[in-house]
Amino acid sequence: MSHKNHEPRVIIRADKSKPFARRHPWIFAGAIQSVMNGDPVDGNLISLYDPSGTFLARGYWNSQSQIRVRALSWQADEVIDDGWWTARLQRAIQARAALHSDPARLTSAYRLVNAENDGLPGLIVDRYGDWLVIQAQTLGIDVRKAQIVASLVDLLGPRGIFERSDDDDMRHREGLTASVGVLYGEAPPELIEIYENGQRFLVDVRHGHKTGFYLDQRDTRSRLQQWLHAETQAGRSDLTVLNCFSYSGGFAVYGLAGGAARVVNLDSSADALALARQNMALNGCVVDDADFVEADVFRALRSYRDAGDQFDVVILDPPKFAQTQAQVDGACRGYKDINWLAFRLIRPGGLLLTNSCSGAIDTDLFQKVVFGALVDAHREAQIIARLGAGPDHPVALTFPEGAYLKGLLCRVW
Ligand code: SAH
Repeated sequence: MSHKNHEPRVIIRADKSKPFARRHPWIFAGAIQSVMNGDPVDGNLISLYDPSGTFLARGYWNSQSQIRVRALSWQADEVIDDGWWTARLQRAIQARAALHSDPARLTSAYRLVNAENDGLPGLIVDRYGDWLVIQAQTLGIDVRKAQIVASLVDLLGPRGIFERSDDDDMRHREGLTASVGVLYGEAPPELIEIYENGQRFLVDVRHGHKTGFYLDQRDTRSRLQQWLHAETQAGRSDLTVLNCFSYSGGFAVYGLAGGAARVVNLDSSADALALARQNMALNGCVVDDADFVEADVFRALRSYRDAGDQFDVVILDPPKFAQTQAQVDGACRGYKDINWLAFRLIRPGGLLLTNSCSGAIDTDLFQKVVFGALVDAHREAQIIARLGAGPDHPVALTFPEGAYLKGLLCRVW
């Protein structure tokens, strides 16, 4: 194991070493005191030490990122070679065994690797039927793509692997630009058909959001269906749902499967609404032009309010309003505004399903914002369920940032 002696050593400032004991995987530039044993090459492995020479961790380096190091191991004798990466991938895949063994073919799309939360910082791998879609969020993953692809082919034998590393803020902060295309095997069709809890969806992995579909809302969509089913069994056959930020119609398909009489989809993207319409038709839903509204949600909710329109269920699943800590205040005003309007549109006894995927806004703060909206709307509400991403999006206890998605299901009076 002599190679480790040649790895550059990164010394952490004594006053910044506390998070290391807690095994948080991010090492910011400001925590670094000095670098010994030569200049690290971006993407290569380095070892982290405290000022007294005690080993802390090993990870990959990027001088272009404020997060200089992403830690991979806290064990001094752990060798990080090709076999290590394969074993980590295998661990993540095995942890999803319940989703892989799916004899009834109910669900064919889920997250296989959830980056930091699976001990693989910067790497996302999603399965869509016979294809895998990967996203490299960091330079350290970007330079190891060929090796990761080879391991995934060995472990899973996919028909093809497509990369969706878009030109986004995350990649910019790592000094990277877009990298999108086929990495292995067959190119995916324009729309891949997947199953989710027995519902069928068409996914555009080339142009869709994230890697094509909001896999993280699978369990919440299922909960919506169960709730509506219970209401319809109890005699409500006339339930109307307003699905704000509908994207490709995930909640709409489940809503109708649960027995809702009507779901109105609201999105600012005509492409998203067109795909929502296709997905609803694919599941045998009867669709009407009036159920697809291309509009800004903030404005549309106001016009529903002014017109006196009411709904039994309002779903709010907006995009990430806070990209950074600095945007939290503005984001909270945005969340409050849509929740305030939603409360006013719900018939007494109806339901609000409200979500936030802003990592910078934690569950407590989100609940406070929804509370503020409720008070201003002069309504009453109870939390019936707390919701979040499913088990294929695990949150590492050492990485609270992993719990970005939080939802509240409220009964509104
Ligand atoms: N609920 C969806 C995911 C929502 S993603 C699902 O389960 O699949 C957020 C969506 O909000 C995107 O489709 C985006 O086009 C839309 N969007 C973003 N800002 C908007 C706005 N101001 N008004 C309306 N739609 C908006």
